Amino acid sequence: MCGIVAYVGHREACPIIIKGLKRLEYRGYDSAGIALMNGTLSVYKKKGKVSELEAFLQDKDVHSNIGMGHTRWATHGEPNDVNAHPHFSTSKKIAIIHNGIIENYAALKTLLISKGHTFKSETDSEVFINLIEDIRENNHCTLAEAVRLALHEVVGAYAIVVLSKDDPHQLVAARKGSPLVLGIGKGEYFLASDATPIIEYTNDVVYLKDYELAVIKNGELDIRSREDVKQTPYVQRLEMALESIEKGGYEHFMLKEIFEQPRSILDSMRGRMISASNHLMMSGIREFENKFVNAERILIVACGTSWHAGLVAEYLIEDFARIPVEVEYASEFRYRNPIIRETDIVIAISQSGETADTLAAIELAKSKGATIFGICNVVGSSIARTTDAGAYTHAGPEIGVASTKAFTAQVTVLTLIAMIIGSKRGTLETSKLHGLMAELENIPAKVERALKLDQQIQEIAEKFKNATNFIYLGRGYNYPVALEGALKLKEISYIHAEGYPAAEMKHGPIALIDEQMPVVVIATKDGSYEKIVSNIQEVRARKGKVIAIVTEGDTTIPAMSDFVIEIPETSEHLAPLLSVIPLQLLSYHIAVLRGCNVDQPRNLAKSVTVE
Ligand code: GLU
Repeated sequence: MCGIVAYVGHREACPIIIKGLKRLEYRGYDSAGIALMNGTLSVYKKKGKVSELEAFLQDKDVHSNIGMGHTRWATHGEPNDVNAHPHFSTSKKIAIIHNGIIENYAALKTLLISKGHTFKSETDSEVFINLIEDIRENNHCTLAEAVRLALHEVVGAYAIVVLSKDDPHQLVAARKGSPLVLGIGKGEYFLASDATPIIEYTNDVVYLKDYELAVIKNGELDIRSREDVKQTPYVQRLEMALESIEKGGYEHFMLKEIFEQPRSILDSMRGRMISASNHLMMSGIREFENKFVNAERILIVACGTSWHAGLVAEYLIEDFARIPVEVEYASEFRYRNPIIRETDIVIAISQSGETADTLAAIELAKSKGATIFGICNVVGSSIARTTDAGAYTHAGPEIGVASTKAFTAQVTVLTLIAMIIGSKRGTLETSKLHGLMAELENIPAKVERALKLDQQIQEIAEKFKNATNFIYLGRGYNYPVALEGALKLKEISYIHAEGYPAAEMKHGPIALIDEQMPVVVIATKDGSYEKIVSNIQEVRARKGKVIAIVTEGDTTIPAMSDFVIEIPETSEHLAPLLSVIPLQLLSYHIAVLRGCNVDQPRNLAKSVTVE
């Protein structure tokens, strides 16, 4: 994963890079480093957060108009000062920052060692820079040419920036599989893993494509393919407000993003649905309407929270559109020789649009002729660019590593898709469709009401902050929500949690229940209400502590629960959009009370660009 920032222009590079790395810290934060050209090529790096690098730089000469920085999420070699980026080549004449994994690094390293190169770190990235140096020395070529030739030798994923002592006004960058955005200002250029470090200075960006090489030399930009063919950059104007990537008074990005959901859900519907005029439309679907209507099967590929949104979609699409749906972990799908037909629609879901396994699953499905529909949040991301059609979730930048508003926006978009296909296929009655549309429009206001439970949930969190295990149970539409609630808790509080379909509990997890075990039951009024009442009784009989999420006004379940959280009533099809809110807040408050770093949980990174 990791975050990359580089700058060349008329300003001081160091503050731009440090600020940019802080914005990218959601991508990795085990160590950070910077390279600056100030008479010589200086590299400073430190284990820990970007703020530690910043403190380390206090007494250093950091004046420079060109430089590059990196915040790492270790794949090869533990997080320490030596493995932190940038990495020098053996001669120390060139240095690299790298995001991704070089899969053939071991063979390359052996070869390079036999040729006299020496290594200080355990990283694959140091192999890359020595390979570039080796090619440059053997071919007596320019740095850009050596980088281009090296791209033919490496296997894996990378976004790199390279600096050379001998070319003090030049940045060379390339990518394959890992994102890299180029910002074009007036007489200045920026490179970053996403646009957030750039938009403060310019809105004009170029998303580099796989195997493209960008050379910025003496103020000129030259983009070439790996085959050395000059490319014409497609300059996009990005509309992203600076406030949307700042905390706006909240203690953590996660809390800000939880509270943004009334707006982000609304934004994900905007222009797509107006219930008063029965308007329901999604441009990405319109183009492929026949394919959707006639699809024999829909495959959903995703990872993590997006996979949970996919499970909700399975219920919705099968219910409304009567098309069989299979939901797959992208990482399993891509490696298990799945059956994919030309008549299949593959829906790929990813907040960042850069998830490596999801991208690989898309490529596989494409090669078999399926139609690929992408759902992602980050505009211009790799998934958005590689799919046949798609829909943005429009949730705005999500910085907290634990996904919240992206999930509800994904579920909203998937609900719209299920309603559109259902109505086109004639499998969703018009009266039911109109009822659902009206109710979906009410959801943002109901989420607003659910957010008012914050104080009450904080009090419940206080009671359970020292628990070592949690079980989350739900049935039907609330089953994926149980999985999501458990995942949120694990991610940010490091408490072990299991999400289960409530009836499955009897086939194993019930053995875990004793008086120490908190059991969160999502038991809103729906078709399986009576069944879940019985499941709660089963937990009670074994002295488990029941925290029930119920529909406002319910009296049955509160009478048998230790703690009750009441959420507004809604259609069971839309329940996940509401029932997930208290679970997000519960995990947030438990994590804060345990002193955990909510926005940057250990071992995690937001955008999983390695497989
Ligand atoms: N593979 C490189 C390393 O372990 C880069 C990892 C990253 O993308 O942060 O240092």
